[in-house]
Amino acid sequence: MFDIPQSARPGALHIVATPIGNLRDLTLHALDVLRTVDLIAAEDTRTTQGLLSAYGIQARLTPLHDHNEQIASARLVATLQEGKSVAYVSDAGTPGISDPGAGLVAAARAAGVTVVPIPGASAVATALSVSGLESPWLFYGFLPAKPAGRRRALEDLRDLPYALVLYEAPHRIQETVADLCALLGGERRILFARELTKRFEQIHTCPLAAASAWLEADANHCRGEFVLVLDPPAAREDDDDAETRRVLAVLLQELPLKQAAHLAARLTGARKNSLYRLALEMKQDGDQDDFDAENNAA
Ligand code: SAM
Repeated sequence: MFDIPQSARPGALHIVATPIGNLRDLTLHALDVLRTVDLIAAEDTRTTQGLLSAYGIQARLTPLHDHNEQIASARLVATLQEGKSVAYVSDAGTPGISDPGAGLVAAARAAGVTVVPIPGASAVATALSVSGLESPWLFYGFLPAKPAGRRRALEDLRDLPYALVLYEAPHRIQETVADLCALLGGERRILFARELTKRFEQIHTCPLAAASAWLEADANHCRGEFVLVLDPPAAREDDDDAETRRVLAVLLQELPLKQAAHLAARLTGARKNSLYRLALEMKQDGDQDDFDAENNAA
C-alpha cells in the first residue's frame, strides 16, 4: 500500500539508494526506512548526515567504507542478529554499484540475515534513460586508472556487440576519452552525461573523433561527474551483408519481392526500404538464379 509508511524491518539489512545530485530524488520508501531504522551505516557519515539533516532525520550513524568493510560488516551482522534493523547508504546513488556495500550484503546473506533492497537513483540508469539506446548494454563502471590497464580493458571491450556504460572522474576524463577514440575508433558515438540531476547537468553526444575537441572547447565540459555511454560497434558490414543476402534469397524463393523484403527486415533488423532495394538488385543481378542453381545442385 503506497499510502502507508513502510517502516524498517527488525533484523533486516536495508540497502538504500540515495540521490546522485538532486536531494529531492529520494524515494518515500527510503525516507520511511531512514526515519525508522535502528542504525544507519554509511560510506561517509558526514555526507549522509547532510542528507538526513535536509529531511530532519535524526539517526545513529556508523561508518562502513572500502577500508573497514570486513570488520564493520562483521559488527553490523552481529547487530542484525540481535534483531536490530540496519540501513546501508553510500555517498550517492545505489550502494554496491561502483560503491561499497557488496561485502556487507555478502556477509549478511552468509549469516542468514534478510537483505531488503530500497531502490532509487543510480547514475547508470539515469544516463541510459536519456540515451535513446535500445540495444543491450554492458555496465563496466570505472576503467582502470593506469593507462596500460585501461587500454587492455578497452581492447577486451572493443568488439563486444553491446553499448558500453562507463563512469569517469573529471581529472581523468580527457585521457580516457583520448584512449576511447584510439581503441574503439573515431566513428563510434559517445554520449557524455555530465552532472546528472544537478544545476549544470549536460547531455552531449558526438562521434568519438569529435569528443576531445568538445571537452577542450569549454573548461566547464571537463568539470563534475560523468557517465559515458558508447554506442555498440557497427555490425561488420561483410558479415551483415552476407547474412542479409542469404535470408533474402531464401525468402525470395517462396514469396513475392515486397513480402520477402518485409519479412527479411523483421528477421534481420535491417531497414525495410534498404532490403526492398537489395531484393530488386539481387533479382536484377541474378543472385536469385545463382542461389537457386547452387541449391538445386546440392
Ligand atoms: N553508486 C553510484 C551510482 O549508483 O551511480 C556510483 C558511485 S561512483 C563512486 C561515482 C561515479 O558515478 C562518478 O564518478 C560518476 O562517474 C558517476 N556519477 C555519480 N553521480 C553522477 C551524476 N550526478 N552525474 C554523472 N555521473 C555521476
